[in-house]
Amino acid sequence: MQCMHCILVVTLLKIIKMAATASKLIGGNFLFSETDPKDVFIPEEFTDEQKMVWQTVHDFCMKELHGLGIERVAQLDAEKDKEFLLEIFHKAAELGICGVSIPEEYGGMGLDFNTGLLFTEALAIGLAFATTIGAQVSIGSLPIVFYGTDEQKRKYLPKIATGEYACSYALTEPGSGSDANSAKSKAVLNEAGTHYILNGQKMWITNGGFADIFIIFAKIDDDERLSAFIVEKEFGGIEIGKEEKKMGIKASSTVQLFFNNVPIPKENLLGERQKGFNMALNILNNGRIKICAGGVGGMKFGVQKSVEYANQRIQFNQPIAQFGAMKQKIGQMAMLAFVNESAAYRVGAEVDKKYHELKDNGATENDAKINSMREYAIECAILKVQGSEAMCWTADEAIQVHGGMGYAMETGVEMAYRDARITKIYEGTNEINRMLALAEFYKRAFKTKELKINDAMKTIPVGIAQNFNPFNNGFMADESEIVSNLKSVFMIITGAAGRKLKTQLEHEQEIVMNLADIMSVAFMAESAILRVKKLKSDANADKEALKIKVKMTQLYVYDAIETARKSAHNAIDSYATGVEKFAMKRVVNSLLKNYDINPKDTRRAIADVVIAANKYPY
Ligand SMILES: Cc1cc2nc3c(=O)[nH]c(=O)nc-3n(C[C@H](O)[C@H](O)[C@H](O)COP(=O)(O)OP(=O)(O)OC[C@H]3O[C@@H](n4cnc5c(N)ncnc54)[C@H](O)[C@@H]3O)c2cc1C
Repeated sequence: MQCMHCILVVTLLKIIKMAATASKLIGGNFLFSETDPKDVFIPEEFTDEQKMVWQTVHDFCMKELHGLGIERVAQLDAEKDKEFLLEIFHKAAELGICGVSIPEEYGGMGLDFNTGLLFTEALAIGLAFATTIGAQVSIGSLPIVFYGTDEQKRKYLPKIATGEYACSYALTEPGSGSDANSAKSKAVLNEAGTHYILNGQKMWITNGGFADIFIIFAKIDDDERLSAFIVEKEFGGIEIGKEEKKMGIKASSTVQLFFNNVPIPKENLLGERQKGFNMALNILNNGRIKICAGGVGGMKFGVQKSVEYANQRIQFNQPIAQFGAMKQKIGQMAMLAFVNESAAYRVGAEVDKKYHELKDNGATENDAKINSMREYAIECAILKVQGSEAMCWTADEAIQVHGGMGYAMETGVEMAYRDARITKIYEGTNEINRMLALAEFYKRAFKTKELKINDAMKTIPVGIAQNFNPFNNGFMADESEIVSNLKSVFMIITGAAGRKLKTQLEHEQEIVMNLADIMSVAFMAESAILRVKKLKSDANADKEALKIKVKMTQLYVYDAIETARKSAHNAIDSYATGVEKFAMKRVVNSLLKNYDINPKDTRRAIADVVIAANKYPY
């Protein structure tokens, strides 16, 4: 009987592996394919030019913001100083920072997508100002870059690139946040047919207090879906609410907007009518991966602040950095920065490759930009959740490392903690992003069939999985097998839950959250493994650094197994009963067992290198 089960599951695992499709540039395909390390981009491959972008932005933030001293920074944080905000915005613009995502022909720097992520990582140390510039170069201007006509681009992009126009993105309303398409703002074409007349209200609009250009989402007449408009403040009829009093990113502008018969020239409709909601989602894909890249910058900074403090703070006659409890935190923080970095730039490079592939196949510039981003919607949702949660955890633990001083304003870590918190909310809450990752997976697997799941996957058998292979050998072979098993666990439970609950599954959100977490840790772990495998095959790679990178990868894999096991059990216990429940849990336990590292020693080894370097060293 046991052998029969074994055969069933071994066959199932083979099917999953065979389902790899020919194209390598398919979002979500990581679940069905084994990626060759040669095909992934790793951060060690950034060119000197790309590193220069990072350095320029980093130096700017250090000089113009951190250089002010903590008291002035704290003051900016406490009382919004609009003039200072504008001053710093224009200084950044002089360096070309406002034009990073704008093509060169419109006066921007035309950075490729992955360099744009590197820019975002560097910007993350820019306190609340990072949100201001982030909105300018991402959600505030990309709708025009991606969807604008040539005329719209010529009219607006050069001024956005120089900072002459500050911009913002207005989707959320008091009654419509996560459910963005239920927005009530309404635009009606006037009798002369020359202008849309906009009425309504928006809420939580970043940069809204000083923006010259608003990308506004509203419904035309009684349309079902949103349309988008480029609206200049100069058009009149926009009343700007008072600045919100917020928990964090206090120095950034966040306001309500009230529209009273705003006349929008007809030609300022952006993209097609009723396509605004799709546009909004796609722009958010872009913002989501950037949250992860920014998170990487924040995590590295958190490591640095923590280790600097821990190295100089003496308790019980020794630096607190020497205590195991502190090493545990520092090692874990560094590991999370490393893994998130591996995953974010892996996806960033895929987006760039997809863009070129689409262009080579004859796509227009706009379509190539839009569809290369859309392709990786699953990965962007995963990265948003993982990056924001890792950053918030790091900020919290950075306070803990600082003890009472962490709670005081003067060390700056409490500000980082407050600032980090918003990343779990905006660009789609983390709950929405978990659901989105799953929904997009189901859509691509079962509706559009872009993911080539073998038919057999739809009726997944339940059985006892093959045991962890004790004869596995080769560099990172155990870890690679575990990732493969994590994917199998995801597929087995997703298939079985889908089969049992059918359309009811979308209403069983707790199970959806569990499934999204399994899928996510599989992706993150795989990204780190691919990175160290690629480094291993590079004769010029720093061998000592590689040893620690391997340890960081192993530590993540160790944690990933626990996350996946807990999520899998939670899901199974929530939908299955009787024999099915018993059998499913045996499969999961069988697939997720026997990974033997010493987590304490592994974390310590990582922490020791970070402590010696007095910063995140990679
Ligand atoms: C500082 C700040 C800056 C912002 N900047 C901008 C901006 O520039 N432009 C802009 O347009 N918006 C902006 N936002 C708005 C932001 O995107 C929204 O706050 C966010 O999308 C969540 O919407 P909401 O606040 O209405 O929460 P809600 O949608 O009311 O959600 C409340 C809770 O319910 C959960 N929830 C909602 N729907 C579901 C569901 N279907 N299933 C399960 N759980 C659900 C959510 O996950 C959340 O936990 C900003 C917000 C803040 C706080």
